[in-house]
Amino acid sequence: MAVIGIDLGTTNSLAAVWKDGKSVLIPNRLGACLTPSVVTEAEGAVWVGTVAREKRLAYPRQSAASFKRLMGTEQKLYLGDKGYTPQELSAVVLRQLKQDAEEFLGEAVDEAVISVPAYFNDEQRYATRQAGLLAGLKVERLVNEPSAAALACHNLHSQEDETFLVIDFGGGTLDVSVVACFDQIVEILAVAGDNHLGGDDFDQRIAEHFCREHGIGQDTLNPRQWLTLLQSAEQCKRLLTEKEGAMMEWEGPEGKMGLILSRDDLIRICAPLFKRLEAVVQKALRDASSDAIDRIVLVGGTCRMPVIRQYIRHFMNIAPMTEDHPDEIVAKGAAVYAGIKERREEIKDLLLTDICPFTMGIGVRDPSSQDLLLSPVIERNCVLPFSREQSYTPCTDTQDHVMIHIFQGESMHCSENLFLGTLHLDMPPASSGSRFVKVRFTYDINGILEAEAVNHAGMKARKRIVNSHIRMSDEELEERIIHLKNLNYISREEEQTEYLLARGDRLYRECLGRDRDVVQNNSQLLRSLMDKKNPAKLRAARRQVEPVFDYLEEKLGLEKLI
Ligand code: ADP
Ligand code: MG
Repeated sequence: MAVIGIDLGTTNSLAAVWKDGKSVLIPNRLGACLTPSVVTEAEGAVWVGTVAREKRLAYPRQSAASFKRLMGTEQKLYLGDKGYTPQELSAVVLRQLKQDAEEFLGEAVDEAVISVPAYFNDEQRYATRQAGLLAGLKVERLVNEPSAAALACHNLHSQEDETFLVIDFGGGTLDVSVVACFDQIVEILAVAGDNHLGGDDFDQRIAEHFCREHGIGQDTLNPRQWLTLLQSAEQCKRLLTEKEGAMMEWEGPEGKMGLILSRDDLIRICAPLFKRLEAVVQKALRDASSDAIDRIVLVGGTCRMPVIRQYIRHFMNIAPMTEDHPDEIVAKGAAVYAGIKERREEIKDLLLTDICPFTMGIGVRDPSSQDLLLSPVIERNCVLPFSREQSYTPCTDTQDHVMIHIFQGESMHCSENLFLGTLHLDMPPASSGSRFVKVRFTYDINGILEAEAVNHAGMKARKRIVNSHIRMSDEELEERIIHLKNLNYISREEEQTEYLLARGDRLYRECLGRDRDVVQNNSQLLRSLMDKKNPAKLRAARRQVEPVFDYLEEKLGLEKLI
């Protein structure tokens, strides 16, 4: 049984596998490698991916997207009136990737290596593994996205030592890492990131700018209008990747509106985002204390933007390299990692050493202010796996127990860090000598923490640190697995037809005259056969319609609807 690598992205998800000595991307049922991380429940069925993203425009309240941003929280997202956790929605996407992989490989897939932002905390990592379980995938290993990118970019045959900077700028997150490569070792020196900065923020700023320029009050727009505005903004952003200037068009309540934007406008509107990017890169470089960067590797869809590349070149003084498909690199790296895990011949000696990006510590009472201050047990950028012990004395001689509060973060004040949980330990009187508590934190290679406390009497308390709100009992897990399994997923065949229909709808809007008639006739042909439930005829019709739509899209210069 194969182990696949999965890049479970905020915007798009991809799967890849180590095959014939290299990473191979797995096409989905529509023949594309990127599956939008969007789930829509509409027309009596559950849709995932490209068609779900198109249906979202018609059914914004029955759709969920960007749920990775909420991973590890209790927040529910609603498909109509049914609430789902972010990990359940991720599971729905994973399930589809698993099926597509099984179809592609012709064998069952029950295990995956999933990439996560290096900046994901314990809860987010736990939730990601849970999403895998819910989708029927064993997830023994998580790999940090920038580390996966480093694995994908490392030249196995290069003899030279190299230090490179990986900047992974996706739809919702930014991850930066400094990586040293030598022989068969890929060593992550430092990572830094921002879990709330990505391409979506550019779309948002462009949309806000559009509203300002046209005197539209943002709060007057309904969800559908706001979504279509964001989509126009994204389209305009993509056009600016190709050209110096672009026209943004939007169908508002008062008809069609337009706005011309140049790359300079884009830089001006999004200036604060560039500054945030630079700050994260500088932090990674400082932490790595490495002054010689040989290469800059750009990963993630947002790195396609020329303005981003220029900005990076400007402040780093090195021209970044760009692969043709920056949004595929992480998945390819996850597949390398899967290959290493399976001890595949060509890469069995390749070693990735990763680090933990957070400081983990416990709260200690400041005697003067009674404030809870952070006492670091493990500092950020330690190499995984890692374990360290610190000794503490109780505040008073008489207390009969200690409550150890565990925090993650860089602030001196615990209130500003992420609270992870507590450990309770009884403190019997000391027969001789003084009383103490030794606290040991251990990180495994997935970046998940275990805490242990031992007192002077040898009594112990230990636990895996995950907040209770996202933990599920085995019964709950089983119940949710069954629930997700029994959703009315759209079949591959139906999805392929719907995909063609969505392309037809878009083409119809874009073209005129005879072409319009052609689109309409072809769409009608598909619709009429859908009702007749004759799969063979429908398949033949799809084969006939597809080249027509391909031709028209090409003629109009439309980007593929993927
Ligand atoms: P994630 O890893 O978050 O799922 P991706 O790496 O797939 O995201 O990147 C998605 C982001 O890249 C989106 O914000 C999208 O708008 C942006 N993007 C994709 N292609 C382009 C392009 N040609 N020009 C500008 N931005 C792009
Ligand atoms: Mg990504």
